[in-house]
Formats: sequence, C-alpha cells, structure tokens
Amino acid sequence: MSSTSGTEVAGKKGSGTTSAAAPVTPVLLSRKPSRIREEGVASGGTAKTACIRTFGCQMNVHDSDRIRRMIRDAGYAEVQRYEEADIVVLNTCYVRENAVDRVKGHLGELSRLKKEGRVSKVALTGCIGAASEASELEKQYGIDLVLGTHNTYELAEFVGLPGMEEARTPELPGAAELEGEHSTFVTIMTGCNYVCSYCVVPSVRGRMVCRTMENLLGEVRRLVAGGTRYVTLLGQTVDAWREDGKRFSDLLERVADEAPRVWFTTSHPSNMEDRTLRLIGVRDTIVGRLHLPVQSGSDRMLKVMHRGYKSDRYRRKIEVFREAVPEGSLSTDIIVGHPGETEEDHEETLRLIEDCGFDAAYVFKFSPRRGTEAAKLPGAVPDKVAQRRFLEVLRAIEGNALTRNRARVGSVVEIYVRHGRTGDGHAIGETWSGHAVHVPTDAEAGRYVTAAIEGAGPHVLYAGDPVGPPR
Ligand code: SAM
Ligand code: SF4
Repeated sequence: MSSTSGTEVAGKKGSGTTSAAAPVTPVLLSRKPSRIREEGVASGGTAKTACIRTFGCQMNVHDSDRIRRMIRDAGYAEVQRYEEADIVVLNTCYVRENAVDRVKGHLGELSRLKKEGRVSKVALTGCIGAASEASELEKQYGIDLVLGTHNTYELAEFVGLPGMEEARTPELPGAAELEGEHSTFVTIMTGCNYVCSYCVVPSVRGRMVCRTMENLLGEVRRLVAGGTRYVTLLGQTVDAWREDGKRFSDLLERVADEAPRVWFTTSHPSNMEDRTLRLIGVRDTIVGRLHLPVQSGSDRMLKVMHRGYKSDRYRRKIEVFREAVPEGSLSTDIIVGHPGETEEDHEETLRLIEDCGFDAAYVFKFSPRRGTEAAKLPGAVPDKVAQRRFLEVLRAIEGNALTRNRARVGSVVEIYVRHGRTGDGHAIGETWSGHAVHVPTDAEAGRYVTAAIEGAGPHVLYAGDPVGPPR
C-alpha cells in the first residue's frame, strides 16, 4: 500500500483475515426486576465470574462480543475455565451435527459441575437455542436459560441487568460491540432468503433484514473515531444487502471512504456483482480477499442444493475478480458427500478447484440437519467415500495454495497485525491481499509493519524481521 526505502511494497493488491467488534448501546424499552443482581457477589464474597464459550462462525463470534459486553456491564469478570465461573454461556452453532455433538459434550460436563456446586447457572444461546432440539437439551442437561438468535437481549436480565424487551431498534439488527477495539465486525444484515437444501440458517436466523446505510455509516464513523482500524462487514449473504435503489457495492464504497481498512463476509455468488469485484481492485482501503462459497463444481449438485447459479457463472465471477485484483486471494466453502453426489460430480468439483486456483477453502463433509430438505433426500454417500472425497478436495486446495503462496516469497509487504506476539514468538498478521502472515514483531494489534516474505506454507506466509518501526 506504500513503499519503503525505494523497495516496492506489495500494496493492497498483495494479503488477509479479521476479528473482534464494537458497540451501539442497547435501547432500553422496558425495565424488569433482575434475578441475579440481587445476589450481588458470588458465594464466598468474591467477584462474580462468567465464562463464555463460542462455537461456529463469525456471526457467533460477533454475538458473543455483545454477550460479553452485557456480562461486563453486569459486573462479572470474565474467566476462561468453567470451574471458576458462576455463570456459563454457551453461544452455539447448529450448522453441522459435529458442532452439536461438541456442545453436548460441554453441556454434560457443565451439568456435572452444577451438581458439584462449582457452576451455578448455564445459558445456551445462538443457533442451537433457536432450533427445536433446544427444549430436549434444556431438560436433559438442566439448562437455566435457552435463547435463540433473535432474543439474546433476554440474557441481560439473566445476568442481572435491567431487563430489555428489545435490545436493538428494528433497524439495528446485530449492531457492533466493543467500540475501541482495533478490529470490529459490523453486522449489516441478518438472516437469509435462500433455501439451500442442506442449511439450517434460514430456520434459525430467519429471513434477511438489512440495516439502513445511514445507520451503518454512522456506526462506522463512531467506531473509527473510537480507535477501530479494521471494519469487517458481516452477514450470511452480505452482498445481498439492499436499501431502496442502493446495493452492496454502494455501501462498500461508502464504508471504504470512512474506515482505514475494510473487509466483508460471507458473499453469495448469485448476489456478487462485477462492480463490487472491481471496487475491491480500485479502493486502497478494501482488503483484496474474496470469500465466495461455491459448495460444488457440479451443475447437477448445485441445482439439487438450490444454489441458484451454475459452475460456469461462478468461474466467470472469479475471472473478473482475478483481473480486477491480480494479487488478491480467493477462498471458498465446499461440501462433499451431499446426498446424490456421484463420482462424476466430485470430479467436476476437482476440476473447478483447478480452474479457480483457490488460496484457501473450508471443506465440509455433508452433515444431515434436522428440518432441512437434504436430510430427507435419498442417495446418502457412505462415510468412507465422503472421507476420501474430502481428502482429495483438501489436497487439491492445499496444493494450489502452496504453489500460489510460494510465488510470494521475496516480495515485501505491508502487514496489518491482527494478534500481537503469541507464545510461538511471532505476531499474526494479514497482508493487503488477504493472506495470513506470521511476522516476528512486538508491534501491537492494529499496527502495520513492513517485511519481506521469506517462506510459505499452504495456509500461511512467513515474514522476516520488519523494516523500520510499526506505523
Ligand atoms: N451463507 C454462506 C453461504 O451461502 O455460502 C455460508 C453459511 S454456512 C453457516 C457456512 C458453511 O457451512 C456453508 O458455506 C457450507 O459450506 C457449510 N454447511 C452448511 N450446512 C452444512 C451441512 N449441513 N453440512 C455440511 N456443511 C454445511
Ligand atoms: Fe445457508 Fe444457503 Fe443461506 Fe448460505 S445462502 S446461509 S448456505 S441457506
């Protein structure tokens, strides 16, 4: 994005990923007496403590930030171990069965700790809370409070804050939290209007609701004024955002005027417009990384999944992106073993991977979810076959990614520090092209350093000592 001592530094068309979040004070519409507040401090006279565990996607990470804020406002200190917590909140994901199994494991441990008197209350929030299965879990594990995705505000009363019937104005769904953090998620829309055969999101998150541009921009300005240096626009189909005649590219352009660094996720190929892809290429403040889930390379499977596009249309989008952002990075989601997936369909997926040259992918084995169309479809793929396809897809993605990453060795890049130095001795950063980088620096999160790329793996680049001080 700039150059140092005459060396060309890979600017924004050169690495990325993201995190954290900032605020909008909840709107109190009614007050109710609190239950737990009356207890003041926890037994033994010590400060009250709470532990939050997050499962799943960035939307859940973002929701957990909101929960964290409520808990802090209620005077709880956050702890990392269940045994040290008075209250435990599990903010959960329902997308795949193994996510539910993991949560059940935690619930089992928590009900044991409750019996031993080491944890007093357990709340289950998020997508499992919104699913019909939640009432069974509530009984089985003696959960004290179960909340879905639309009524997280009820947690306020649970932790002893004044009750809130509505924690957000209707045009403010998913307002960002933790103002002042260097990196912030801003939810621009909630829910989803698609009906992908395999997916529970529409049933647990509801239909799409978009925040207004005015409201969003106001929030972004407040966040930036409060110290946020990186804004990630968030939504299940973020590029489906609309307001009157305005579309996602209009919103992105305005946010890119206000924030020093911007990214967005997750996009849907049917909504992704060429002008959005071109905008990424021309605006210095937008990270050059596109996450565009394809799910399958087979037109037949894309139809069964109700994705609404064919593989060639996806390929054309990628061509536009590669032309507009030549140094950019591309990631996707792929499901293997969806009911009815044949060997030919799988081959089509491998062909698409080859054609698109992804830099990264989240690869999932199909997981049947109660209430979805795919859970009832015939043609289940045996696990052994799905596992083999999973590994083949993974290897193809990693092979591509490694080749592409190696081509970056020797370049000098500007790196945004996302996490300060870890126990492993390096900070974790992101280039303007959206690539993850390990860099040996003591620079704090939110600062930039410039360094040469000296090594590459399939998932990460390795930088040498930074040139000059952090900025
Ligand atoms: N809204 C995004 C989209 O349309 O691509 C993704 C949302 S979903 C929470 C994240 C990813 O989980 C999906 O892209 C899909 O690959 C995967 N996924 C969702 N349901 C799944 C299921 N039943 N089995 C396996 N993977 C699944
Ligand atoms: Fe789920 Fe499809 Fe909506 Fe994505 S677009 S959230 S996969 S239904």
